[in-house]
Amino acid sequence: MYRLSTSLLEVKGIGEKTAQDLSERGFSCVRDLLLNLPLHYLDRSTLGKISELNEERELTFIGEVTSISNFYRRPRSIQSATVKDDTGRVKMMWFNNPFILKKIQKGKSYVFSGKLSAKGSVVQPVVAGVGEDSLHTGRIVPVYSGSFGVKVGTLRRIYKEVLDNLAVDGDQDLSQVLPDQGLSKLLDTLEYLHFPETEEQVVLGKERLALEELLLLIRKSNQIRDEWQKLSAENHPPVVKVKAEDLVPKSIPYALTKAQLRCIDELVADIGESKPMNRILIGDVGAGKTVVAGTAAYHLVKAGLVVALVAPTKILAAQHLETLKSLFPDIQIELLTTKQIPDLKKGGIVVGTHKVINHLFELNPSMIIYDEQHRFGVSHRSSGKELVIKPHTLTMTATPIPRTLMLTIFSHLDLSVIDELPPGRMVVETYLSKQNKLDDFYAWVEKLNKEQPSRQILIVCPFIDPSDTEGFTEIASVETEYEKIKAFFKKRLVVGKLHSRLKKAEQEQVIADLFAGKIQVLVTTPIVEVGVDLPAATVVAIHNAERFGLASLHQIRGRVGRRDEQGYCVLFSSSRTEATKKRLQMFTKEHRGMKLAEFDLSNRGAGDIFGLAQSGEDGLRFANWTNLELISMARKIYNELNEKKWSPLLKLNTKESSLTPMAN
Ligand code: ADP
Ligand code: MG
Repeated sequence: MYRLSTSLLEVKGIGEKTAQDLSERGFSCVRDLLLNLPLHYLDRSTLGKISELNEERELTFIGEVTSISNFYRRPRSIQSATVKDDTGRVKMMWFNNPFILKKIQKGKSYVFSGKLSAKGSVVQPVVAGVGEDSLHTGRIVPVYSGSFGVKVGTLRRIYKEVLDNLAVDGDQDLSQVLPDQGLSKLLDTLEYLHFPETEEQVVLGKERLALEELLLLIRKSNQIRDEWQKLSAENHPPVVKVKAEDLVPKSIPYALTKAQLRCIDELVADIGESKPMNRILIGDVGAGKTVVAGTAAYHLVKAGLVVALVAPTKILAAQHLETLKSLFPDIQIELLTTKQIPDLKKGGIVVGTHKVINHLFELNPSMIIYDEQHRFGVSHRSSGKELVIKPHTLTMTATPIPRTLMLTIFSHLDLSVIDELPPGRMVVETYLSKQNKLDDFYAWVEKLNKEQPSRQILIVCPFIDPSDTEGFTEIASVETEYEKIKAFFKKRLVVGKLHSRLKKAEQEQVIADLFAGKIQVLVTTPIVEVGVDLPAATVVAIHNAERFGLASLHQIRGRVGRRDEQGYCVLFSSSRTEATKKRLQMFTKEHRGMKLAEFDLSNRGAGDIFGLAQSGEDGLRFANWTNLELISMARKIYNELNEKKWSPLLKLNTKESSLTPMAN
């Protein structure tokens, strides 16, 4: 029997080499392994016929081998077999896989999973014996991250071994701590997640772990609130009073919306109190959060104090720097890097990323603003012990959570909401298109650009490099698309690429070129999702749109149409799942973040589990801010929870998933 704490070295089938590979990825015990959920699942549970094989979706079928051959075409060996059923026959091909010849025999039938290549054969199909209790086909099959260094098949066997022999204590299993809540047993939950029989089981399993995570968050929030109440009287930042007529700095070039003004009022009231602010500023994409937070910062700086703005990416930090400089030309605003700690004796704003936040204490900020976008709830906090004063803390987020729910989870926070977009915003026209219409799209882009050369086009791909992980081979990658697009446009348009693996200097150059209008087409990962404001971006295309949650798509779409010009968003997807089509179709018509979140909520599940795991995008491992129902359920359950009997399965990583904002 294994326990959650059992070291992986003790698991049957894990040798020293594998244990080493796993431990390099942070897996040392059974718990670590089990909480690493499959990246996605392949549905090999429904059997089809040879005549139904197609190029788009993997199909599982039973067929009889009628011939086998093995030949060399340097540099590789090719194994091939012809297989028939009552609807037809098809050729199978494997490369450098002589083992397959030991596995299959002429005249016998097997279960095959694969899809048709352009040439009409099935390349590298997975094979299992008929009736064999297979982990790899004839069922919903888990696919774990390819970066393991351990083969996918081996991993599946390890998970099976662990799950078949696992025991958990009563206090580790919420279904036993809270027997009246109808929760699924922990062992079942883990089985659902790793070896589901149906899609519904995956959804159930994920919700069960999400619930655990939310309960931990609530507990943490309560703790922070209690500590905050004790501490807030001490060492607060200097009180700054702002006269009503000075509320809005004259240098802001546009009229603020009512909602923006109300939020500024709330922030300014906070800095006039003799205790630190602990507030979250919520507003949909493009609502204009920057100027609101910036105005509060401005008033502190005018009083001679320092404010730090922490951005999730360097790109965004650079952008905030420019934005703030143009909004508030009369105060000092500097970039904070590891090499350069600006001298701000007379007060000023420093902008940096989480990485540089550790330098903060030397600056002794009166306020820290976290631009978390929709990934709030988590952040690398400053090692705040060194801070002499407890700074005001403000977090900006686009997470569409209703106020009441937010407050039930985050009892330690005050809330400001910008519930109105600046006037004159046009809705971004959104279309759903098939992947094979790409050339038409490029031609249209070229036409748009000819009409007005300043127009920029963003092309978003899920991956940086092409993947050879099962089921991922057809997902667009920046590197591949970049080459294709460059070839298409020749010298007519300048194409750039941007992703997190480029060298820092290269990234900065691309951004600079982009803002200078030297690049017309940018191929990128969802890195652009995170709040970058590109005023000239007119069109955004998203490849494999089915791989993104609606909230992410909404964020990405928010990158265009940010000035008075009509913006366009084109979703490319060849998904044939009805649920996915419906989801994307709905996205083309709906432009309110909250409605999209609600839709994802009520339609979660069916069809979605075969997409990419989205966890981590909002800083949570399992829970999702858009699952409002689960959030309110967590709140109710928490009230029933006898903490003394509960030994949480999960841990909140205090470095990466501490609650926003803690300011200590
Ligand atoms: P977000 O809330 O998504 O962070 P930003 O702060 O980046 O949004 O603002 C989006 C864009 O809207 C920026 O280009 C900004 O200059 C502009 N903007 C913000 N407030 C107003 C306003 N009241 N009137 C006109 N434009 C505004
Ligand atoms: Mg923003």
